[in-house]
Amino acid sequence: MQHKVTLIPGDGIGPEVVSAARRVLEASGVNLEWEVVEAGETALKKCGEVLPQEVIESIRRNKVALKGPITTPVGTGFRSVNVALRQELELYANVRPFRNWPNVPSRYQGVDLVIFRENTEDLYAGIEHMVGEDAAESIKIITRKGSQRIARAAFEYARKNGRRRVTAGHKANIMKLTDGLFLRCFYEIAQEYPEIEADDRIIDNLALQLVQKPEQYDVLVLPNLYGDILSDLCAGLVGGLGVAPGANLGEDVAVFEPIHGSAPKYAGQNKVNPLATILSGVMMLEYLGEKEAAERIRQAIVQVLQDGRYLTYDLGGNASTQEMADAIVKQLTSM
Ligand code: NAD
Repeated sequence: MQHKVTLIPGDGIGPEVVSAARRVLEASGVNLEWEVVEAGETALKKCGEVLPQEVIESIRRNKVALKGPITTPVGTGFRSVNVALRQELELYANVRPFRNWPNVPSRYQGVDLVIFRENTEDLYAGIEHMVGEDAAESIKIITRKGSQRIARAAFEYARKNGRRRVTAGHKANIMKLTDGLFLRCFYEIAQEYPEIEADDRIIDNLALQLVQKPEQYDVLVLPNLYGDILSDLCAGLVGGLGVAPGANLGEDVAVFEPIHGSAPKYAGQNKVNPLATILSGVMMLEYLGEKEAAERIRQAIVQVLQDGRYLTYDLGGNASTQEMADAIVKQLTSM
């Protein structure tokens, strides 16, 4: 069966890691047809827009996309293309699995957890204004609908994947209305999943516990901002952003992308780790029902990691982005 997929190379290191992922996915033998569209700085230079309508239309048509990171100016300039895409396509669940890999240096072992980050509301609604000249205000939006659907997505995932526990992170002791609503919705939905343990942690305590005993956590469900911050923390538990993939899921549309950004200082150097994007592609294959090919790519990655000759700098090696991808392709074709 052929799958038509929107491919967004992105900015900075995006085109390098996306082309590496594309080669690996193709080498798995899955029949993929790519529709390449540009967004971000690259699109701005070519057509004067950061998020051309054709990008949204392509994803809506194909229903599945693989995306490289896109640069967002800090403190000024255009709004985040990533946030706009997630809001426009109602990609409400940002799913980010973290696990240790063989031969990937980490201070921890036995980490295997999945973050479900609410992806469309919270402070990311982007409703900000100045109050006079010397104060600024940002509005935090939390809705029943948004909170219930992210909780349900996390519990459904737990049920389908044999996970035992879902933990909500919040600051409902201080933000009694917004985070309070998020937490109440979490426990309402939990009642539909009696076989799965449901509990919660105040977000600062959760950050501490993740650093002290991450192996005790299983599935985490978090509002947007806490989810963003703890995602990078969890990437740090398993070897860094180079090995951390992600998916943005809506009702019938999905965009797969690594957690990391466009790392401009490494752009064009063929140096960064392609695994996060390759693993995002593996999540995409699973979503498309290509489970056997996804598993083969995972095994090929494990072989290359164990072999140890073709690792990028962040994993302690000196292979380039494309050399690491080549090694995975070679492994795949010899399986
Ligand atoms: P970043 O994730 O781009 O990079 C931070 C550091 O992490 C890098 O300097 C590098 O040391 C390391 N790193 C990142 N990816 C790596 C890889 N594949 N292999 C090895 N090391 C890697 O974060 P940043 O510097 O804060 O953000 C840069 C830009 O990316 C900003 O414009 C930001 O808005 C954007 N961003 C985009 C997305 C997205 O598109 N979804 C996500 C996060 C950040």
